[in-house]
Amino acid sequence: TTPKLLGPAEIRALAAELDVRPTKTLGQNFVHDANTVRRIVTTSGIGSDDVVLEVGPGLGSLTLALLEKAGRVVAVEIDRKLAARLPQTVAEFAPAQAPNFDVVTADAMTVHPDDLPYVPTALVANLPYNVAVPVLLHLMSEFPTIRTALVMVQAEVADRLAATPGGRIYGVPSVKARFFGDVARAGSIGTHVFWPEPKIQSGLVRIDRRDAFGTDRDLRVRTFAAIDAAFAQRRKTLRSALSSWAGSAPQAEELLRAADIDPGLRGERCSVDDFVRLARVRKDAGS
Ligand code: SAM
Repeated sequence: TTPKLLGPAEIRALAAELDVRPTKTLGQNFVHDANTVRRIVTTSGIGSDDVVLEVGPGLGSLTLALLEKAGRVVAVEIDRKLAARLPQTVAEFAPAQAPNFDVVTADAMTVHPDDLPYVPTALVANLPYNVAVPVLLHLMSEFPTIRTALVMVQAEVADRLAATPGGRIYGVPSVKARFFGDVARAGSIGTHVFWPEPKIQSGLVRIDRRDAFGTDRDLRVRTFAAIDAAFAQRRKTLRSALSSWAGSAPQAEELLRAADIDPGLRGERCSVDDFVRLARVRKDAGS
């Protein structure tokens, strides 16, 4: 049976029952539009073989749409009151899918695979906007079993995540996201589908994991440190921006040349492959 989805009346009723006062700090904007949540699920490409990790299920709008397609949904919600109501909402709106649903009360910034009852294969989420990038990077780092991710974030953050080298908006989130795989913009979403209505448009971003650099934690940490250093002073050349990271400007120059990167370039010209090579060269140099 097809679950019923949450429209404006259902969202209003649930919010009243729980006395929800949406907070900006927790990025609480709830979707009340069936077409939007169905579109997110379709765009994610998830199917009955997937165990979907949903971050921030809120009142359950996206959760119910996910349960139409996924084998299983494991939701991680930080707000106890919202988390506690979800099993009942699923039982009411999607009774046939209720056995395929679990909710864990936890902070997605620190959640670990051991905290979840099942191993996720996909991430689909309308992320809390103020912590969207750190949550996304944390989950892609700590959950190597996630092969695909489809997240809704602020449009501007979506653009930055999907940006390619050379542009003005290409920065730390763009390079780090690409460490995990292919990143692409996957649509835009207006403000009217939310309660309360946010001021800015939202965008969808999809990451398909490639594991080009393996799941080597040490390499990731080293690569991310080089990225952070290069972009901390993004107007400077790499030779100068990376001098304290390398120990000195001449050492930075030497490492950059060994990694086949022009030391006179700025970080915004470099791809994630460049930063990975640089991290490897520095490790081999024993520094
Ligand atoms: N998925 C719902 C929807 O689409 O209507 C709600 C999305 S709302 C933008 C973000 C949700 O993330 C809220 O339910 C909020 O309580 C939750 N949240 C905020 N910070 C969180 C965190 N650090 N870990 C887990 N959930 C969080």
